[in-house]
Amino acid sequence: MSVSGSIELPREPFGSISKEEAGPPVEEEHQPNPWKDATQEEWDDWRWQLKHRITRAEPLKLILNLSQEEIEAIEASKGRMATAITPYFAKLMDRNDSNCPIRRQAIPTMQEFHLSPHDLFDPCAEDENSPVQGLVHRYPDRVLLLVTDKCAVYCRYCTRRRLVGSSEKCITEGELDEAVAYIQATKKIRDVLISGGDPLLLEDDHLEGIVAKVKRVPHVEIIRIGTRVPVTLPQRITLSLTAMLKKYHPLWISIHFSHPKEITKEVRRACAMLAEAGIPLGSQTVLLRGINDRPTVMKRLMHELLKIRVRPYYIYQCDLAMGTEHFRTPVAVGINIIEKLRGHTTGYAVPSFVIDAPGGGGKIPVGPTYVISQDKGKMVLRNYQGKVFEYQEPPSQGP
Ligand code: SF4
Repeated sequence: MSVSGSIELPREPFGSISKEEAGPPVEEEHQPNPWKDATQEEWDDWRWQLKHRITRAEPLKLILNLSQEEIEAIEASKGRMATAITPYFAKLMDRNDSNCPIRRQAIPTMQEFHLSPHDLFDPCAEDENSPVQGLVHRYPDRVLLLVTDKCAVYCRYCTRRRLVGSSEKCITEGELDEAVAYIQATKKIRDVLISGGDPLLLEDDHLEGIVAKVKRVPHVEIIRIGTRVPVTLPQRITLSLTAMLKKYHPLWISIHFSHPKEITKEVRRACAMLAEAGIPLGSQTVLLRGINDRPTVMKRLMHELLKIRVRPYYIYQCDLAMGTEHFRTPVAVGINIIEKLRGHTTGYAVPSFVIDAPGGGGKIPVGPTYVISQDKGKMVLRNYQGKVFEYQEPPSQGP
């Protein structure tokens, strides 16, 4: 390998994160506490948190200075993807700043009701790839099992907004049996991803009933759970839940994180409990305009995730879901983030940046190009600093 020159790359300094980018410090108290009469025991109880979710503008006004636009949008969200925010997640919001990254994810704006010509009702064509109710079979060896349409907090950019946030129902026994029968009959399925909505909102015994049924299928090698609950309702991660989940290894969990401000002491505790139960944890992050689209913010998030034993797994280009254009960035923004991570930090902190192809093509990785040319066994590459190297491949071995 030899150095034969260098090329200029666009550069953005990697200093420490600015105050504006990070938002107010994590766990800072921002507003009066309207739940001051709740006991600590109640606050720490996930069922209390769910029961006290904020769904209207009036109670939210007690803790935030809502803009007129936010008030109108919350009212307008009724009958569509509803607004619902756990007291825990609401307490992370900045009282005065409607651009607070936590606030922007959970409180609708009127932009949500603008439809772009590119918006799609079902951006990843999940319904087309659904052989039975509640099951999506896109890739040959794995399926997605949707067990509920309920979430602790409704993310305004949700790709599944056509399904979540209205009825708050779970899969029926009959639907589950039909889905499991399909998995049983389809021998190539080795991996089942249980998602929703949020499967960790189910009671332990209900979730265990589903996991156990899937686990009984002999050719299912691994079970995965996709969830945002450790972030929006970390109180849900209890000893009884982790004791139940650890019976079904190999079981993996993908957690949806968006911003470093989400990583509080409660989230650290929840992830530690899952990790102590032997569950490998990965993160999934949607790239969101004005929320996490700066390389410094994303780098800080990835570093915080490693510290709580969550391996950064995917950054998603925001799907073409209805009413989400204001959250979408150019694809180049995501490519630039990977450029600013790869080589500049621990490899474990570098996720794959993917576009879930509209129309159901699956996840397509996109990223910086490091191969400059390849010809007659010689590959010319550039590294993260823009320095150019040659790699000589072995002679062809013939047929
Ligand atoms: S938690 Fe997931 S499924 Fe629920 S609203 Fe957020 S992105 Fe959608």
